Amino acid sequence: MVTEEDILKYEYYLTAIQKQLGAFFEEQSPYIFCKEGCSHCCEKGEYPFSEIEFAYLMIGVRTLAPETVAQIEKNILEVKSEREHYSGDEPFMYKCPFLINKRCSLYNYRGIICRTHGLAFFSKEQKLLVPACVDKGLNYSNVYDFEKGCISDEKYSKSGIEQEPLAHNVGLYFMINNSLTKELKLDFGEIKPMVDWFG
Ligand code: SF4
Repeated sequence: MVTEEDILKYEYYLTAIQKQLGAFFEEQSPYIFCKEGCSHCCEKGEYPFSEIEFAYLMIGVRTLAPETVAQIEKNILEVKSEREHYSGDEPFMYKCPFLINKRCSLYNYRGIICRTHGLAFFSKEQKLLVPACVDKGLNYSNVYDFEKGCISDEKYSKSGIEQEPLAHNVGLYFMINNSLTKELKLDFGEIKPMVDWFG
C-alpha cells in the first residue's frame, strides 16, 4: 500500500534523479539522437514498474481529460487481449498504453525506466548495454560495432568526438538501490511489467 508520505518522498527523489539524468544526457549528447516525435522506446517493451511508480502513474491519470482516459482504457484492453493470445517463449512485449499519437500522455508521471531510456547503462551484472534503438540507427549507432554487438573503440577514435561514450548505473536495479533511496527510506515495493499491474 503506497501512502501519501511515500508519494511525497518519491516526488523528492524524482526531482533529484531528473537533475542527475539531465547531466548524463548532456554529457552523452554526441551519441543521443532522441528527438521530438520519436517514440521508439515506448513502442515495444516490457516496462518494469515498481508499485510506487505505478501508483504515481495512476495519480497522473486523474489529471487527464476524459477522452484521453477513454483512449488509454481502450489501449489497455488491447494490450491485455494481445497478452492473452501470446504464446512465445520470450517475455511479452507491447506498445505502452499511455502512448497516444507518439507522445506520452503522462510525461510528468512517467516511470524511472522511461526517464533513463536512451542512455547506455550497466546491467545488474555490470555488462555495458546500449539502448535497443541503436538498431534503428539511433542512440550510440555512430560508435557501435553491429557485428560484434558492442561499442567500438576504433569507431570512437575515428569519430573525433571528445566525450567518450560512457555507461552509467541507470538500470532500474541501481536507480532504486542507491544512496538517496536508502537515505529517504524509499520502499519501491514489488516490480513487475506494467501490463501486470492492470490485472
Ligand atoms: S509511460 Fe510514457 S514514457 Fe513511459 S513507456 Fe509509456 S508512453 Fe513511454
